[in-house]
Amino acid sequence: MKKTVKAEIISIGTELLRGEITDTNAGYLASQLPLVGIELQRMTTADDDTKKLAQVLRNALKNSSIVITTGGLGPTQDDLTRESIALVMDEQLFIDAALEKHLRITFSQMGREMPPANLQQAMRIPCAQSLPNPRGIAPGWWVEKNDKVIVVMPGPPREMLPMWQNEALPRIKNRFPGEQIQARTIKTFSIQEAKVAELIHPFFGIANPTLGIYAKTDGIQVRLIAHGTDAAQLLDVNTHKIQQILSPYVWGTDTDTLGGIIGNTLSQRGMSLATMEDYTGGLLGNMITDSALSSQFYRGGLITGSDIVKIDWGIPAAIIEKKGTASCEVAEAMAAVVKDKFSSDFGLSVTGLSYKNSSGGQFEMVCIGVADAGGTKSWEQQFMWNRNDSFERAAVAALFRLRERLIDMNLLDYVK
Ligand code: ATP
Repeated sequence: MKKTVKAEIISIGTELLRGEITDTNAGYLASQLPLVGIELQRMTTADDDTKKLAQVLRNALKNSSIVITTGGLGPTQDDLTRESIALVMDEQLFIDAALEKHLRITFSQMGREMPPANLQQAMRIPCAQSLPNPRGIAPGWWVEKNDKVIVVMPGPPREMLPMWQNEALPRIKNRFPGEQIQARTIKTFSIQEAKVAELIHPFFGIANPTLGIYAKTDGIQVRLIAHGTDAAQLLDVNTHKIQQILSPYVWGTDTDTLGGIIGNTLSQRGMSLATMEDYTGGLLGNMITDSALSSQFYRGGLITGSDIVKIDWGIPAAIIEKKGTASCEVAEAMAAVVKDKFSSDFGLSVTGLSYKNSSGGQFEMVCIGVADAGGTKSWEQQFMWNRNDSFERAAVAALFRLRERLIDMNLLDYVK
């Protein structure tokens, strides 16, 4: 029987330990490893300190065949990842002439002279190959010695992600060829996690694919992981069955975004959208402009911070006074006004507020309005309040309701 390859992830940075930044790299990498049949044993956060980091690395290498690090590759004195790995591997750092040349070219292309401190980013040890970083300055390393591998990547996720996908992952697949593993994520919204679990309960008894349920800001996700030569077929069959069960709530899979799905539908049909948002402070517009097609269908949006501004834009003061700023009536008026002002096919609005109930629990009430050729429609949704993701969830809810309206109008189909 083939032995399972074991891995450990080390996130490097004192800022992480102080809670100044949240470690999203480790979570992402942890979700990637099962796809290459590698078992993650441990995730560690390490200080920017050569000795401490070297100790963490030594421990990790004792237990795992592959260690993945992110962070600590910058040009400053507290970026000590290279130095620590050199210590552990018992090798001397040297300046790689090709890397230095590449760095100097990168700086000159940016119209800047390379500060001397950046030279340390051209350093390497003999057992390390450099991994190109097209999104940043610091190259990564692929370190291979004594049957162990260390993958060394930069901290910023926008640099780490492409390096992982384009450089590290192909090398890992090649170095540790394993069983074929594939994953699929089914994305839902407007359904509780417990309800999803209840509805798809029978699938948890299946050995292949295995299932996981995760709560994300854009809804509850079901992740299927299949292995073996028929992994792709197993995924297709089970995804289809689960999508049928959860159908009204399923809005996409894998890398789909609601903004992208709406953008595709509207731009394909030559239709346009405008938004008016109170409460979400521009997040709704931002999720729409995330779609590469947004210039084709998004006319623009208004962000209001007070009732006075809403009234200035044409929301009847009497409705605000009678129904309150976070009400379905105001949401419908906002959608109708913005549709009219921007001469778009659809107006989409969101308004909301957070409040405490009698037992001190904090909630948010979000009202969403859609205006189109058929008139206006609105929805009210309540969520538990959470400063980190409430606004994002409200903007997602608005996009989800617009999607429902597109389905009602036969412009889009349910995912089945
Ligand atoms: P740089 O060359 O930009 O300094 P680096 O590899 O040295 O990159 P760090 O200095 O450790 O990386 O971190 C730079 C930034 O990257 C951090 O301020 C943070 O915004 C982000 N970052 C670092 N590690 C993580 C992580 N584990 N999860 C999410 N973001 C991270």
